Amino acid sequence: MESAREDIFSFFNDLHSFPELGFAEERTAAKLADALEAGGFTVERNVGGTTGVIGTLKGAAPGPVFALRADMDALPIDEDSGHPFSSKNRGVMHACGHDAHSTIVLFAALLAARAGIAKGTLKVLFQPAEELLTGALAMLKSGRLSDVDEMVGLHLRPIQEARLDEASPALMHGSSYVVNIAVEGRSAHGARPHLGVNAVDAAAAIVNAINAIRVDPRVSHSFKTTSIMAGGKASNIIPDSAKLVVDVRAQTNEVMQEILEKIALAAEYGAKSVGGAAAVESTKGVPAAEYDPALTEVMRLAAEDVLGSSLPPIVSPGGEDFHFFATEGKIKTAYLALGADLEPGLHSEKMRFDPEALIIGTKILCALLARKVL
Ligand SMILES: [Zn+2]
Ligand SMILES: [Zn+2]
Repeated sequence: MESAREDIFSFFNDLHSFPELGFAEERTAAKLADALEAGGFTVERNVGGTTGVIGTLKGAAPGPVFALRADMDALPIDEDSGHPFSSKNRGVMHACGHDAHSTIVLFAALLAARAGIAKGTLKVLFQPAEELLTGALAMLKSGRLSDVDEMVGLHLRPIQEARLDEASPALMHGSSYVVNIAVEGRSAHGARPHLGVNAVDAAAAIVNAINAIRVDPRVSHSFKTTSIMAGGKASNIIPDSAKLVVDVRAQTNEVMQEILEKIALAAEYGAKSVGGAAAVESTKGVPAAEYDPALTEVMRLAAEDVLGSSLPPIVSPGGEDFHFFATEGKIKTAYLALGADLEPGLHSEKMRFDPEALIIGTKILCALLARKVL
């Protein structure tokens, strides 16, 4: 492990210098795939027609398929962090630490391969486009993960959630969705409003109906209309259409499902109440974390192997497309929240963290692999 220190730092610095946006992680993917191949993994590139990479290493004895997953993509941000290896791709920055996740997963896999897999199969997944929230689904659609029994992921945490030398075996992401609603009315002259159906009236009725939705207050949640577009052609024309956007958050998938169903009803009946019509056009988002208790317990033990203690589960208001692997892929999952003294925050152009977190993260995943496949 200690001999890998400098390799880990230099691999990370190189990824950090050349960030790439979702589904365009060509250089990043090639570098990761080459390193896996050199480490003895069978490597599949361009998984599902994307930049995704899967490495596979079979153990001496048969057993379950265990997967490590990291995201590869960066953000459309101009880096201003003062990092000595700041982005050389203008307007693109690793501001969410996906370069750190890729480095940690890669080196944990390489060190495990060097030790030799005793039982089962180790798979390594480098997925594209987490920030677009569509990379994980693309990997599942490829069918190349259908044999995976268990999968773990990780994310660096902002300093307010965890310090360097701290980690939690469960980062409790909530579910977040954006709902687009289309409203249909009927145009008329402003002097004869009774001959039309005002889409603004319908939109207002929908907003009120949405605001009157009630769900279990013990599960934290919120929903709010964040955009209304209607009219504007002329002040004396009754507008015949409107578009609404609703941002929805919920800490569990059950409550999210209930809110989404009630929003669809609020749209339909809100519009009907003024003689119009409305329907949900699209619903896009990510599910909440649903972890496997037994695998999370092994993650806790692995964190404690390295750090001596672990933090309780961390509730995060953010979303992650990793959770599709559990909800859609039916894979048992766990997810490490890794402290890194990261400041001032994720997605900031000034984001920096203590690189020692790369070593700690690699050690924790190595401890996990020692308990699962070595
Ligand atoms: Zn992010
Ligand atoms: Zn991220």
